[in-house]
Amino acid sequence: MAAPRNCDLIIRNALVLTMDGRRTVHSAGAIAVTGHSIAAVGPEAVVLHSWQAAQTIDAKGGIVHPGFIDAHLHVNAQTCRGFFRGDTSKGGGVGPNYADWKAALGPEDERAAAALASVEMLRHGITTFVEPGSAFDPDAVAEATQSAGVRCSLADPYLWDDTGLMSAIPGLLSDSLAKRVQPDRDRCLKLLGGQLFRNRDKDGITHGHVALYGEGTASDELLRAAKACAHRAGVVLNSHIGYDLDLAAAMEKRWGRPRFEHLAELGVIGPNTTFVHMNLIRDEEVQLILSSGLTIVWCPLAYMSRGTPLRAPTRLPEMKMRGAPVALGTDSARQCSSGDAGFLALHLAAEAGQPLVSEGVLEMLTLGGAHAAGLQNIIGSIEPGKRADIVMRSTRLAELGPGIDPAHQLIAVGHGPTADTVMVNGHIVMRDGHSTRVDETAVIAAARVSAQRMAERLGLKPPGAWPRAA
Ligand SMILES: [Zn+2]
Repeated sequence: MAAPRNCDLIIRNALVLTMDGRRTVHSAGAIAVTGHSIAAVGPEAVVLHSWQAAQTIDAKGGIVHPGFIDAHLHVNAQTCRGFFRGDTSKGGGVGPNYADWKAALGPEDERAAAALASVEMLRHGITTFVEPGSAFDPDAVAEATQSAGVRCSLADPYLWDDTGLMSAIPGLLSDSLAKRVQPDRDRCLKLLGGQLFRNRDKDGITHGHVALYGEGTASDELLRAAKACAHRAGVVLNSHIGYDLDLAAAMEKRWGRPRFEHLAELGVIGPNTTFVHMNLIRDEEVQLILSSGLTIVWCPLAYMSRGTPLRAPTRLPEMKMRGAPVALGTDSARQCSSGDAGFLALHLAAEAGQPLVSEGVLEMLTLGGAHAAGLQNIIGSIEPGKRADIVMRSTRLAELGPGIDPAHQLIAVGHGPTADTVMVNGHIVMRDGHSTRVDETAVIAAARVSAQRMAERLGLKPPGAWPRAA
C-alpha cells in the first residue's frame, strides 16, 4: 500500500460544494492543499488515506465552498456610504455630485476604501473581486488587497473618449472628473494594457485586465483597440453596457441599429468579453449574445435600485438558463453590503418571472465570476490544480441552520457575514470570522478618517435626515 503523500494542509469534516463539472457535493469531505493550490478533494476517508499534513482544519461539518467572486466592484466607493444615497446617476441635487467625490479621492482614500472592502468581502465568503477600471491609483488598491490577502483584477482608470451620451446619466459626470481623467483617445490608447504587468507573477493574487468605462463612452476606434489589446494578452475586455435604459436607447440611435449588432460587427464581442449590467436586451440580440460566448455580469442592486424592473424586467436569468456565462456583481457597495448580490438575484429573478434556484446563483458567484474575471482556469471551483481559494462557513450561526440543503441555506438565508475561515491562494487570511492579516479596528477607523477628510475636501454636510444633537 502506498504511503500517504505530504501536503501543507488538510481541511476535513467538511460539507464540500466543489462546483466541479458534475457539481459534486461531498457530505463528509476533505481537501488537501499544497502551496497555492488544491492537491485533492473527495470523501474524507479517501483524502486522508492518500494525504497527510502537519496542519489540519476541522470544518466541523460546516459548508465549504470555492471563494465567491464579486465580478464588478467599484472598490473606492466603499467609503462614500451615506453621502450619496439612492440613485445619484440622474443628477439634479445641489452641491458636489458623486462624480465630484470620485475626482477628489487620493491614494490614501482608495487604500482605505479597498482595505474596508477586503475585510468585509472575506467575512461574506468573497475571495476575489474585479475592479472595472475606476480606481485612479491601482497600486493603492493592490497594496490594500494584498495586505488583507484578497485576490483581485485591476484595470487602467477611466478609459473613455466620448462623453456625449452621458447627458442621460449626468450625476456620473462632473467637470472635476473630466479634468482628472480626460475623455481623450490618446490618453486612453497610451494607458491601454497598463495593468497587465500584474499577470507576470503567475502565483500572485493581483491580476490585470483591460477595461473600458463603456456605456456609450468609447469610440469605435477605442473599442477595437481595447479588444485587440485584451486578445493579445489573453485577458478579458470588461465594459459597462446597459446600466441606464435611456443611455442604451441613445446608443441605439447613434449606431442606427441594436447595440450588439454594432458591437459584433466591430469584433468586440466574444468569449473574452465581459459586459456588465445588460439591463436591456432586445429579442433580436439574444442569439447574437448567446452565440458570441460573452460573459454577462448582473448587478442586481444597481438594476433594482433605479426602478429598472418596472421598465425592462431583467432577462439575465433567462440568458443563464440558455447557456450564457452569467456572473454577479455589487457595482458600488454604497447601499448594500458585499455578499448581498446572490440573495437579491434569487428574488429579483422570481419577481421577473424567471425563477433561479440557489444552485444557479451559486454557479454565478463561482464559475460565472471566474469567467467574468478571465480566471476560470485558476479559480471558481474546488478541483485539483486550481488555486486554494476556499471558504469555510461557520457552524455556530443560526442563519446556517438547520443546514439540510446547503445551497439554499447559503444563498437564501446564510448569505451574510457567516464565513468562519477563509483561505486565499493557499494562505489562511481569515480565522474565527476575523482577518489574520490586518487589524480590522484600524481598517474601519482609517475608513472613517478618509470619509471625514473627503467631506471636508468637498464641503459635504454630515448626512442623515434627522437633526443631530451635539
Ligand atoms: Zn459599474
